Parts: sequence; structure tokens; C-alpha cells
Amino acid sequence: MTAGTTAAPSSQTTQVQQRDVLIVGGGFGGMYAVYKFNSMGMRLQAFESGGDLGGVWYWNRYPGARVDLPSIDYSFSFSREIEQEWTWSEQYAGQPELLKYIDFVATRLDLRRHYQFNTRVNSAVWDEARQVWTLKTARGEVFEAPFCIMATGPLSVPKKPEFDGLENFKGRVLHAARWPHEPVDFSGKRVGIVGTGSTGIQIVQEVGRQAGETFVFQRTPSFTMPMRNVPLDAEYVAEVKRHYAGIREVARNSAIGGSRPTSTRAFFTATPAQRQSLLEDSWKQGGLAMLGTFGDLMTNEEANEHVANFVRKKIGEVVTDPVTADKLTPRGYPIFARRPCLDTGYYETFNLPTVHLMDCLTDPIVEATEKGIRTTSGETELDYIILATGYDGLTGALLSFEVRGREGRTVQDKWKDGPRSHLGIMMEGFPNLFMTTGPNGPAALANIIRISENDVDWIADAITHLRQNRLGSIEPTLKSENAWMELVYNLARHSLLNKAKTWYVGANVEGKPKGLSQFVGGFLKYREHCAAAAQNGYQGHRLEPAAQAALAALAA
Ligand code: NAP
Repeated sequence: MTAGTTAAPSSQTTQVQQRDVLIVGGGFGGMYAVYKFNSMGMRLQAFESGGDLGGVWYWNRYPGARVDLPSIDYSFSFSREIEQEWTWSEQYAGQPELLKYIDFVATRLDLRRHYQFNTRVNSAVWDEARQVWTLKTARGEVFEAPFCIMATGPLSVPKKPEFDGLENFKGRVLHAARWPHEPVDFSGKRVGIVGTGSTGIQIVQEVGRQAGETFVFQRTPSFTMPMRNVPLDAEYVAEVKRHYAGIREVARNSAIGGSRPTSTRAFFTATPAQRQSLLEDSWKQGGLAMLGTFGDLMTNEEANEHVANFVRKKIGEVVTDPVTADKLTPRGYPIFARRPCLDTGYYETFNLPTVHLMDCLTDPIVEATEKGIRTTSGETELDYIILATGYDGLTGALLSFEVRGREGRTVQDKWKDGPRSHLGIMMEGFPNLFMTTGPNGPAALANIIRISENDVDWIADAITHLRQNRLGSIEPTLKSENAWMELVYNLARHSLLNKAKTWYVGANVEGKPKGLSQFVGGFLKYREHCAAAAQNGYQGHRLEPAAQAALAALAA
């Protein structure tokens, strides 16, 4: 069957464009989905609201944007050729290099021809009788296909700060997640940076060194550890390329989806001297090495507190002003319960006379004004306000438009008390709708590219099963969805991730249901659950025979 256009049943004027699969999103998940389904000979259409591929890396062009997993791990594993042809220059790639990599992959695999860029999808509605998803774009186009993939990403909807007045500010407001394409020169300017999560920390250490005066509006201090980024020399790269298959195997069989060493050793089985020595080594090694020193840091509160104290002490050793050091010191939540940040001289930045810490715990932001930011104690005049205030994470993207499943049921309704799905990939009541890195998988807790590849492969296998068996739709039963959610919640109950107010638990967005709904059992276990769900003819799923029209399309 060739790509076709038929008159829409609901309208005499709009033409409906027929495909086999529709893909929303141009980040890593969407790119791999496009490659995979194209390789399967499916006619597809993909949509991306940005002007090009890259997802978060397309939008987050702020100074200092850099991945916090080793580049070797944070890259596609499905193509041996791409692994061999592409060469990373740094251990932790910066955003410009990540965009170059994305461009390299897209060009090499000719992915862009399947995309409509600058195109927002406004609605996705399931037609049960015909077994098709109908997607409408903001441009007024209508597409239909039996399958729809939401590769909309866990961090794609920037969060608006709770304070008002930004529209009155006479200077320039920049959101980290909507950064302009042209460089911004902060020399000699007064810059306010709101937010000190992973994003804010990366911005402060860059802008703080350039701007005339920098004011860092910090509410909750984060724990951050040295990244110790290094250029990758040719010998090391050659070695990696020789052993890529093994490196990928290690990643696939790990909890984090990467090759970083982890430990199963319990903290208190080591002597105090051994612990100190291991922590010092991991600090010197940099990156997330510390998280891998012991196996119980996310479950044993006392062990966690020892590690937290180790990092707190380091802050005091770097920051010369004791009051500033004290304000930068995180307290009241476990280390690693917020995303651990990796920095390059973040704490040192506060030793510069031009960098000022504004403590929003004692002196919160009241509003933005014409001239700058007003906190309870007074107004700070600024030329720029940089918002590093985070995202409506995990669920924000899918909830931002109309998605209707069987009997007109919306995702908003389904998720009113928090996200529910099976494996983070499918939802009961939404046949043939698939998510990559969905909210009940390990999305924020393991390498997102490994999860994307796993999810797309799972979806491709499920579609192949339908096609081979002349079936028209698949969706998890309520029983299997409930069992998955019970497992997710049971595991989450023991995790210290619950003990901090973060986007992981929905605490950063007012009115959002709270709770840890991600799978904390690790990437390997997640893969095992995905594989088990596909066994025995997708037992645990409701499989419907193909309706006439859809059957013809599938068989063609
Ligand atoms: P985030 O971790 O949610 O941090 C947002 C920050 O904004 C918090 O410090 C928050 O304070 C602050 N904030 C929000 N509203 C505020 C207000 N009204 N006044 C003062 N402060 C306010 O968001 P993010 O830093 O963008 O990071 C999100 C995720 O993106 C990370 O967890 C990570 O997964 C990913 N990321 C990764 C990298 C990397 O790979 N290197 C880099 C950047 C981001 P409170 O905590 O008190 O609410």
C-alpha cells in the first residue's frame, strides 16, 4: 500500500493522510522509533514542535549545558556503523557536540525526511471501530494510523516559576529550556539566575565567570560533585571502539544502563577508614562514582547521611565565606534523592566578588519587577533574568494536549491521581498507543537512550506480533497494569527518593499528584519485566482481531 490521502469522515474539506505509524517527538526516542519502523517497511509520519531534531538538546542551548553521563554510554547502540564512524571528543559531551552527534545520526540514517518540524500535535483520538489513531496538528492537518508512538520525553515542558511580574521586566528573560540560538553576551551585565538544580548549577559556573554581577536565587541547595571532565585521547577512543559490543552488554545488564562501576557492598560492612578512603577516591575520580561506592545508599538512611556529610564538608573546604558556604550546604533531605549534580568549579564561583548567593529559603522571591527581582527584603536590579526553574516532568508532555482512548477516555482522567501505565509503555484503555521512557518506567533513573532503545524494540516486537497474527490492537489488561503499578509502588516505598521535594515525585509543580511512580528496580530488571510481558503471546494484554480497514493496511 502506498502513502495515501482520503477524505476525512468528519469533514468534507480536511484531507486525512494515512500512515501505518505516527510518532510524536524528535528526541532520542523519536529518532530511534523513526529508524526502526522505517526499517520495518512501515509508512510513517513524525512530528516535532522544535525546528530540528534533538529534544532537550535542541532546546537547552544555555551556556554550560552538558550531559552528566559519559558520552560513550550516552549514545545510540543500535548501529555498529555509527558507533565506529562517530568519535566523541570529551568524556562528558557538551550540548554543541551532542547536537552534532544528533545531526550526524539523522543525516547518516536520513531521518529528517520523515519529520514535520515546527509542528505541534493538538490531539490524538482513538477510533475503536476502525482501529486507528487520528492526530490533528496545530496547522490543521489530520493524520491517521493504526499505531501511535508518544516519544514526548520526560523533560520537555518547562515549568513556569510561581512568582508573577516577568512580563513587566524591562530587561531580558531567558528560560534555560528555551534558550535563544544566538549567543548571549553577559559581559558587564547584572544577571539573576533563579534555580539551582542540575541546570542552574551548570549556568552559574559559566555565567558567573562572565557577567558583571551575578545573583544566584537559591531556594533548595543541591548536592553537587566534581564532574572532572576530560578530553578523550585517540588511544582511548580506539580502545572503546574495539570493545563497544562488550561495553553495551555491560550497560544493558546494569541498573543504570551504563558502564559505570556499581557496588553491592553495604556501607556499614566497611570500616570507617575504608569508607573514607572509598569516598575520597570517588571524589577524586569525579562524575557519579560516589553513587557506585556502596549498594545501599538509596535505602539506608544512616549510610546516606554519612555520604551526605562527606560532601557537605567538601563545600566548606572550597567556599571561603563561611556564611555563603553554610547557605550552599544542603540539609533536610538525603543525598542523591534529588538528581545528583556534576559541576566544574561551581562552589569556586561563589568565591568571586561578583557572584552573590540570594537565599530564597529565608528571603523568597515575591515578584519580578520592571527593574529586576523583588524578594521579601528588597529589590535586586538586573539586566537579565535566567530561569532554571525546571520542568513539569514525566507526565507534563502527554497531559498538555488531548489524548483520547477507548470510549473517549482522556489521559488527564486516567492520570488524575498520578500516572498509571504498564511498564511505562502502554496504558489500559489506550490501544495501540505506546510511550517511550514513560512515567512508570525508570525514565529519570537510568540512561535515557538505553531505555528509549529498549522501549522502541518492545513496541516493534508487539506490532510485529499483531501483524503476524492478523490482530488489530493491543493494550494491557487492567489487571496487568495494576500489578505493574503495585510493583512500582512497593519498590518505591523503600527508596530514599521519596524524601526530597523534586520533580521525581511531582513536588515541584503546584497541584500535581505527589508520589514516586517510577520503577526504581534498575534498568536490567526493567528489561526483564518488559521481556516477560511479551512472552506467551502477550499474555496480560487484551488483543483484538483486526477490523476490516486496519487489517488491510497491516497486511499490505
Ligand atoms: P530542577 O532540578 O527541578 O531544579 C529547578 C530549580 O528551580 C530548583 O532549585 C528549584 O528550587 C528552583 N526554583 C523553582 N521555582 C523557584 C522559585 N520560585 N524561587 C526559587 N527557586 C525556584 O530542574 P533542572 O535543574 O532543570 O533539572 C531537571 C532535570 O533535568 C535534572 O534533574 C536532570 O535530570 C536533567 N538535567 C540534566 C543535566 C545533565 O545531564 N547534566 C543538566 C540539566 C538538567 P526548589 O528545589 O526549592 O523547588
